[in-house]
Amino acid sequence: MSNLEKTLSIIKPDAVERNLIEEIKKIFVSNGFNIVKEKKVQVSKTEAQQFYQVHQAKPFYNELCNYLSSGPIYVMILEKNGAILANREIMGATNPIEAKDGTIRKIYGISIDKNSVHGSDSLDNAKKEIEFFFKD
Ligand code: UDP
Ligand code: MG
Repeated sequence: MSNLEKTLSIIKPDAVERNLIEEIKKIFVSNGFNIVKEKKVQVSKTEAQQFYQVHQAKPFYNELCNYLSSGPIYVMILEKNGAILANREIMGATNPIEAKDGTIRKIYGISIDKNSVHGSDSLDNAKKEIEFFFKD
């Protein structure tokens, strides 16, 4: 049975800054993801606040929005069977210290805030996040 899904992945400023785009893309491709669309962008603080609206009540919200807008990011639509969960698995836990061996955050993450990648956490959020970056 097929369960083809699309999810939004972001390579965050800490990883773009360290020239890790190609290495991280290779991990996705070798794990069976198809990169449907991709682009490098820089978001404004206001756009970051919109993107992370679900976290607006969290103590880390302001720093998170400052951080996402601090430099270029690389956004991708990833497609595969069960893409949403599969992406969360290959990303690893939010805190790189807790992430399993072989996950992107374990390999590249610097800290809980500079954790190198974002991935949609549900079908509903995947749709919203893809729409946010790829409106056309
Ligand atoms: N974050 C943070 N401090 C925290 C928790 C989260 O700076 O205590 C940041 C981190 O960059 C994380 C993002 O906020 O990736 C969104 O948090 P979420 O809980 O949604 O984690 P994720 O879905 O990215 O694993
Ligand atoms: Mg999240």
